[in-house]
Amino acid sequence: MSLDVQFMPGPEFATAADRDDPLARFRERFHIPQLPEAGDAVYFTGNSLGLQPKTARDYINTELDDWARLGVEGHLHAHHPWLPYHEFVTESLARLVGAKSIEVVAMNSLTVNLHLLMVSFYRPTAKRCKIVIEKGAFPSDQYAVESQLRFHGIETSSLIELTPREGEAILRTEDILELIEREGESIALIMIGGVNYYTGQAFDMAAITEAGHHKGCVVGFDLAHAAGNLELKLHDWEVDFAAWCSYKYLNAGPGGIAGIFVNERHARSFDLPRFAGWWGHDKATRFLMGPEFVPLAGAEGWQLSNPPIFQLAALRAALEIFDEATVPALRAKSERLTGYLEYLLAQIATERIELITPADPQQRGCQLSIRVRDSDKQLFDAITARGVFADWREPDVIRVAPVPLYNSFSDVFRFYEVISEALR
Ligand SMILES: *Cc1c(COP(=O)(O)O)cnc(C)c1O
Repeated sequence: MSLDVQFMPGPEFATAADRDDPLARFRERFHIPQLPEAGDAVYFTGNSLGLQPKTARDYINTELDDWARLGVEGHLHAHHPWLPYHEFVTESLARLVGAKSIEVVAMNSLTVNLHLLMVSFYRPTAKRCKIVIEKGAFPSDQYAVESQLRFHGIETSSLIELTPREGEAILRTEDILELIEREGESIALIMIGGVNYYTGQAFDMAAITEAGHHKGCVVGFDLAHAAGNLELKLHDWEVDFAAWCSYKYLNAGPGGIAGIFVNERHARSFDLPRFAGWWGHDKATRFLMGPEFVPLAGAEGWQLSNPPIFQLAALRAALEIFDEATVPALRAKSERLTGYLEYLLAQIATERIELITPADPQQRGCQLSIRVRDSDKQLFDAITARGVFADWREPDVIRVAPVPLYNSFSDVFRFYEVISEALR
């Protein structure tokens, strides 16, 4: 079946591919969890918590030192002054998601941001009040949209869940577009994941946005599994808004500060309702402490509070590495690395596992979701016991994510050896 002369089955291929990999040097920039006797673990859970950049500690320590040395004066006189600190990551965030700098800001955490954005971008009317989400979305997203419906006094039956066809695991783009075409006039908001956390399916964000706009719907994406994983062009795709967390592929640490995108065409839509706080207020007059809220233009106008500097410091460390490696180069490696994993898994003659992630590289990021027959979690326990970091998602999936920034072709080969052995 496979025409993949680009891959070969033996371990020599992995060694040679690592030697030729222009991004291989980035692995050293991260702390790789160690196994008691065997050195580096095979860390395939960067889709859940990305690894720590070695620079993160220094960056946070600098802020601790400045705080100790300067106290409140750090707002203006720290090495990287705290007052404008969030701006130090703006350009990098914009590059990462394909945005203009006015369209992005780092703030809060993901679910909080989804709510704040829905305050502005979910504007139900009697005729148009439905929300579209993918069935099997990350639970937090499901809770968020349902609670938004209830908040507006709308039945939760107004939530449309995109469901795969009978017997299929992933959604077909044609079915998504057809639903939008059919029901669009009653849909206020389409808000789905850029990449589904469970199946690893990447959606055609450009086509969905276009179809939604054609019907007058607002279109937003949760990019938790897409940011730092796919090449994104949010501005060119004309996406209305997006939000993502930074502790998965972005490696900014547990609970790290999240990010939002608001399309430039909404930058000065000051008539949109929004929840306000002083950090979203005009910078020129913020410290006059006046009574009237004057929002900043662009994504910054959605900020509420002064941001957590230690988290921003960790994010800055992480994003500098993305700037150096560049998203297109990472994506090119990612397609090869995941293609190699898929190729090796196909060598295993077993009925016990099957991949549910799309085989088309355009429809996935780095993650592969392995469905295990009969929900047999023992296979997962066996690979875990052999030093692989993967995760089990109920009811029957092992997720593995070879991350191009720090995973190697040799990691993929070791994973293949481990899972082959566990299956025997
Ligand atoms: C990881 C993830 C979340 C987590 O939300 P937090 O607010 O960061 O805790 C939410 N939605 C999706 C799609 C995710 O993948």
